[in-house]
Amino acid sequence: MDCQQITEMLDAYALGASGSADAAAIEEHVADCVRCWEELTRAQRTAALLALSVPVREAPQRLEARILEAAARDLRARPPRSEKRRFPIGWPASAAALGIAAAAALAFASLLQVQMNDLRNDKDELARQLQTTRDTMSDQARVISIAAAGDKQAVVMDAVAAPEDAWGEYFWSPSAGGGFIVCHDLPVPPQGQVYQAWFEQNGRLVSAGTFVPSEDGSCAYPMQPLEEVGRPDGVGVSMEEAGGSDAPTGDWLLWAAFAED
Ligand SMILES: [Zn+2]
Repeated sequence: MDCQQITEMLDAYALGASGSADAAAIEEHVADCVRCWEELTRAQRTAALLALSVPVREAPQRLEARILEAAARDLRARPPRSEKRRFPIGWPASAAALGIAAAAALAFASLLQVQMNDLRNDKDELARQLQTTRDTMSDQARVISIAAAGDKQAVVMDAVAAPEDAWGEYFWSPSAGGGFIVCHDLPVPPQGQVYQAWFEQNGRLVSAGTFVPSEDGSCAYPMQPLEEVGRPDGVGVSMEEAGGSDAPTGDWLLWAAFAED
């Protein structure tokens, strides 16, 4: 396996979610590859932060109380320097010491708070990344189940308004109950735009979701299934604003009509 394949599997590996064959391949690869080793370290740090995120949330209060207790205990245990100084100076000195200890504890607690907030922000980002990973993995699982179906069929999607060398295929399986688009050499859309997939059914265009190809122009996008039961007449891809449109706003970039049977 090459570095890219290994890198793609590292997050799952760090979360303890890879199979034993993948895990063995990763371990063998990172033993000899500094770049992937560093990537693995990063993935493991991410996984550790996720694992830490729950217990850490309760730490500051307890810690602050512990520090204050320790400071008070310290003061009580400190022997008075002399009987003479005990009252006129001793008490205010203790008060000052307690004040300093409390201020230090508060400063420490607020420093922790800042770190907690950083961690929480990281965690939100991590949670988002994890969700994206989950979505990607469930997309992949869906694509695989359709691709592996015995009754899989395919149709070529020709470039209409897309660059000439771009093309697609639509695979579907009645038994798996869905289909997916594979695209080739489809340019990454400009910032703020996405590709949107459509079914044509009984003269109506129904959105099947939006996607963005990888940098190499490839994609494997599982179409959102039609609500209406029945065979679509065609499948197309248009370019739309991020978030998708209710109807295609431009020409078909890729299009395939299903043969009558
Ligand atoms: Zn590598």
